[in-house]
Amino acid sequence: MKVAIIGSGPAGMFTAEFLAKDPATQVDIYERRLVPFGLLRYGVAPDHVGTKAIGRQFERTLTRPNVALACGVEVGTDLALADLLARYDHLVLASGSGPARLLPLDLPQVQEWTGLDLLRWMNGDPEVSMQPGAGIRRVLVIGHGNVSLDVVRLLAQAGPAAPTAAVAAIAEPAARWLHSLALEEIQVVGRGAAAHTRFSAQGLMELQDLERFVPMTEAAEVAETEGAGNADALAVLRSWAGQVRKDLRRPIRFGFGRSGMLGGGFVPDLVVHCVGQQVARIAGWEPMAWIGSLQASDHARVHAVGWAAGERAGAIPASRIQAKAAADGIRAKGLTQGPADAPSGAGPQRSSAAQV
Ligand SMILES: Cc1cc2nc3c(=O)[nH]c(=O)nc-3n(C[C@H](O)[C@H](O)[C@H](O)COP(=O)(O)OP(=O)(O)OC[C@H]3O[C@@H](n4cnc5c(N)ncnc54)[C@H](O)[C@@H]3O)c2cc1C
Repeated sequence: MKVAIIGSGPAGMFTAEFLAKDPATQVDIYERRLVPFGLLRYGVAPDHVGTKAIGRQFERTLTRPNVALACGVEVGTDLALADLLARYDHLVLASGSGPARLLPLDLPQVQEWTGLDLLRWMNGDPEVSMQPGAGIRRVLVIGHGNVSLDVVRLLAQAGPAAPTAAVAAIAEPAARWLHSLALEEIQVVGRGAAAHTRFSAQGLMELQDLERFVPMTEAAEVAETEGAGNADALAVLRSWAGQVRKDLRRPIRFGFGRSGMLGGGFVPDLVVHCVGQQVARIAGWEPMAWIGSLQASDHARVHAVGWAAGERAGAIPASRIQAKAAADGIRAKGLTQGPADAPSGAGPQRSSAAQV
């Protein structure tokens, strides 16, 4: 059986790993970029070394004799989806999501970035180049999810003092920019209630022991506990309520049920939007819409995993669960009558993460 996977992010790589356990299955992965692993390489915060280490597992997958990776091939542009469908028994769409969203704000003269671009810059993504203005003192972070916490944690370690281990892991020139910053305050706001954030409790707790910043919440905003959708995170947010700053540490103020600043004369110099991604596309196509348009016989052999599946974007463990389900489904369906024999040399050449 031959399977083509579009995208070598976590969802594609986990699917490859599950499928390749059967030596009779050939897995060909096509990746748009020159290096594999998607957001694991360019999204996950540089100081989350435990998560980054998943890359070693993916490198091992690429050494399997029945797995091949072709980097620098954009499906939809360099290779037509229909051609792949004709050559493989099954196609797995694992191309991730669209670009990050920006909320419209009426803040002229203020620099606005997405958290994803900031993280990509910190991870040394060659496709991102930020031009930060001078004199940034106050940062407004919008969004109640873990990308916001990554941004806050890394910004809160900025400054001319010796770089923390986290900052040392950041690529130049982002590390140089962080070193030059003298931040006074960070605010983190979102429209939802404190009881219904997408923060992980662990991510919040990582803000508790910062040397230069201290997290704070308003007691009235975190009081409601009934029906809490995210009780663990709420418990941490409540523990910060009404904290009085006893030292010189700067505030990270959290606000809920609002789309603007917390007030108190705070005017941001930089806004970082961490409010999710736009709908997934493959070279302008929406994967899920494309699958929906296929005839039943082809529909059964096209599968979407990870953020390409269009569901509410999850974290890497959720991609693994989806990948397992997709691989089980593919194995259950087995060989199809779809693919014609691929012309010789048409599949990707073997390559490894180290080579690309
Ligand atoms: C800033 C940020 C930080 C995160 N931090 C964490 C974290 O610490 N822990 C955690 O568990 N989760 C984290 N996540 C979530 C995690 O990154 C996702 O769950 C995961 O990357 C989704 O995997 P994916 O394979 O669906 O997409 P992606 O990782 O985006 O991979 C998609 C791949 O497909 C390729 N591709 C796209 N189009 C084409 C095409 N046409 N042809 C060929 N290839 C194509 C892309 O180049 C990319 O390599 C974070 C997300 C973001 C945005």
